Amino acid sequence: TEQVIAELYALLPFVMIAGLTLFPLTLKELLAYATPMLAVVVLSSIPEAKSDISEAVSTIWLFSLILGVAMFASLNQLRYMLSQVNRASYDVLTGLLTRRAGIEMLDLQFRLATISENHLSILYLDLDHFKTVNDVYGHDAGDVVLKYAAQQLSATVRKGDSVIRWGGEEFIIILPTATPDEANDVIARLMKAGLGLRPDGTPVTASIGVAEVQTDTVKDWKALIELADHRMYTAKTSGRARSIGINETQLLWSESCAPCIARNTADAPEPFSGSQPEPLAN
Ligand code: GH3
Ligand code: MG
Ligand code: MG
Repeated sequence: TEQVIAELYALLPFVMIAGLTLFPLTLKELLAYATPMLAVVVLSSIPEAKSDISEAVSTIWLFSLILGVAMFASLNQLRYMLSQVNRASYDVLTGLLTRRAGIEMLDLQFRLATISENHLSILYLDLDHFKTVNDVYGHDAGDVVLKYAAQQLSATVRKGDSVIRWGGEEFIIILPTATPDEANDVIARLMKAGLGLRPDGTPVTASIGVAEVQTDTVKDWKALIELADHRMYTAKTSGRARSIGINETQLLWSESCAPCIARNTADAPEPFSGSQPEPLAN
């Protein structure tokens, strides 16, 4: 009986290491878990090695094989899990946060701002007359415009800010700790950098609504979005290509955006150079 029990105990490290196949673990976690197991197997093989070295070597070899397979399975699971999380969190076309991930971020940032009584601004952007790009130049051309506009949005904000593809050609930018004035600074930067060009070479513009947690005293993030959406709609009905902030403050693309100014100035320098995309052929 003692012999059987001893044999079963000797198998325990093998079973435990094989159990790793069930979990998605990083290489560091795998090594931290496997090293003591390996030590146990090696140490328990020493008495055996004195009488039969080949038996000890084959035990350690078998353990190493099982460990290798377990590591492979575990790392593969981790890779698969991360790819699933990425797929749910990032929009395939633009690489921005999806609406679902964005809602979680909004909820979190709203709670943090209310608890710490800190500022939190959001921008609600809707590209102007975007449907005509699709209608005139096709859906693929629309995708190119959308992708570039999203890149510009990401490039203009700070590291802790989040850009969400809220749906279609609508985006939400979360600006933690930003006051209404600071939110307007971000908009001015955005307008200056521009959102790229439409296939006919005209600048892409957006209508933007701003809302801020402390100044607007809203009860939850949904109310904050509603307010920003409402102001974005006011920007649309007031002539598009502008932002409407708190107290009806307006910023106009035509006064900030480099390509817009260039188009309105006869002796302006070449407007669409550098990182701007080439206008698509008609
Ligand atoms: P407005 O200035 O009033 O916002 O006009 P608009 O044409 O931008 O507004 P509308 O909401 O009528 O059009 C949005 C269009 O965006 C309709 C839809 O076909 C297009 N769209 C939404 N998602 C995508 C996408 O992923 N790719 C492309 N190419 N088009 C998209
Ligand atoms: Mg829209
Ligand atoms: Mg639109």
